[in-house]
Amino acid sequence: MPLRAIQEGKTINAYNLNQKKWEELKESRKKSKLQMPCCKNSAIPKTSKLGTQFFAHGRRGECTPTSESKEHLLAKTIIARICQIEGWDVTTEYSGETPNKEKWIADVYAKKGKVQIVFEVQWSSQTIEITRKRQERYKALGIRSAWLAKKKKREYFNEIEEYQLPYFHIEYNEKENNFNVPRYKVTLQAFIQGMLNKKLRWFPEKGMNVESGLITIDVNCWRCKRDIQVIVGIEVKSKVNKFKKFYYFDEVSDTIISMITPSLQQKHKIGIIKKRYSKTMQHQYLSNGCYYCDAIYGNFFLKEEILELLVVDSILYPIKIEVHKLGKEIPLPNQVWHFEK
Ligand SMILES: [Zn+2]
Ligand SMILES: [Zn+2]
Repeated sequence: MPLRAIQEGKTINAYNLNQKKWEELKESRKKSKLQMPCCKNSAIPKTSKLGTQFFAHGRRGECTPTSESKEHLLAKTIIARICQIEGWDVTTEYSGETPNKEKWIADVYAKKGKVQIVFEVQWSSQTIEITRKRQERYKALGIRSAWLAKKKKREYFNEIEEYQLPYFHIEYNEKENNFNVPRYKVTLQAFIQGMLNKKLRWFPEKGMNVESGLITIDVNCWRCKRDIQVIVGIEVKSKVNKFKKFYYFDEVSDTIISMITPSLQQKHKIGIIKKRYSKTMQHQYLSNGCYYCDAIYGNFFLKEEILELLVVDSILYPIKIEVHKLGKEIPLPNQVWHFEK
């Protein structure tokens, strides 16, 4: 159900009218016809049970009017208002056509300069296949899109986490007559506003500069009983982007080797990183060894040790820091939609 109507060729957006103006509009309708944008039939200003102003068809037209829930209407209103406040040109129920003449209607369409974005509210259920198809249609037209779907009480699957499909759950809050985005613990307003201001990012970015800190632990050698250090991994940080991740020795062994120098090894009593035969593993692999006696320190042992350290004390003290590119010297982790509050 549209939030938009036409009167004397002028667009009327229901969400821009206060109650007084809304009443005036109802009055004016007797003198000057209010029309639906879809079929040009008469439009009747109405108010939903949630207090959302909208237009209903006076008479059914050539169009195929969709019935929308009161929550859907409210969400559209909220999104349209925020886009407008942020200085975007907003059209609700925006209709377009693909090059092969397929018609589409977007809940909220916003444009600023060359950037076009649509917001789709999904209060009724829609299969992932259809969502994907609609998303691809927008993509082909160079329009960005974001999906805001109702969070079901019993959700057996997670939100879709794809760069191509920005899809988020929203939840209606009866007390506030508003929506929350549970994943980021923000209101729908704050989320949309953030989205329009580049606060929603596919994260961490490939190629992003990170600080790699070489992490060692103190060990008393099981064979020669002397005090040595072994390398357990790299802690990767980016202060600017608030990214932090620990990589185990075997995930970044090449990078570790490139960071070690003979003087560093001597200073911290770190053995050579090389292939050693492990009796437990029954094969050779890249491992730490004792600085003095070359006894092997297997990856299993290292993981156990660092896990304890990560649980007890999250502050690690690297013996050396180098700047690396994520996705190059440091493997790119699983990327997710990250929202900066
Ligand atoms: Zn119509
Ligand atoms: Zn030793």
